[in-house]
Amino acid sequence: MHEYSIACEIFEQVIAAARAHGASEVRSVTLEMGRLTHTNPEQLSFCFGALAEGSIAEGAKFIVEMIPPSLECECGYTGTVDEAQAGERDELLSELLEYVAALKCPACGKQARITGGRELVIKSIDIETEQVQ
Ligand SMILES: [Zn+2]
Repeated sequence: MHEYSIACEIFEQVIAAARAHGASEVRSVTLEMGRLTHTNPEQLSFCFGALAEGSIAEGAKFIVEMIPPSLECECGYTGTVDEAQAGERDELLSELLEYVAALKCPACGKQARITGGRELVIKSIDIETEQVQ
């Protein structure tokens, strides 16, 4: 399963980072996930939770921030498929998604570059440290 192997990688990174900072507990993990990674955040969260059992990350909050796809073209066009903005304009959203899928610029029709939406990175980790003073 796609999500499971990603969760494994994230889990290892989280534990390594937490240990490096002398954490006794991981309170939350925030992930940035691009829409174009086609990853299911609920499944990812579930897999992470299962992996974290018995570790210092057990019960940690798993927060996923979705990054909308964005395009850039040599004609100067830059655009983001902003779902919050699209809201009631579903037509526009699906139209833009088609452009993203085809890597085409909505302004001039030439080949555009995807500049966002493929991220899958740990944005931050909130840890608890036991400080001996
Ligand atoms: Zn263009």
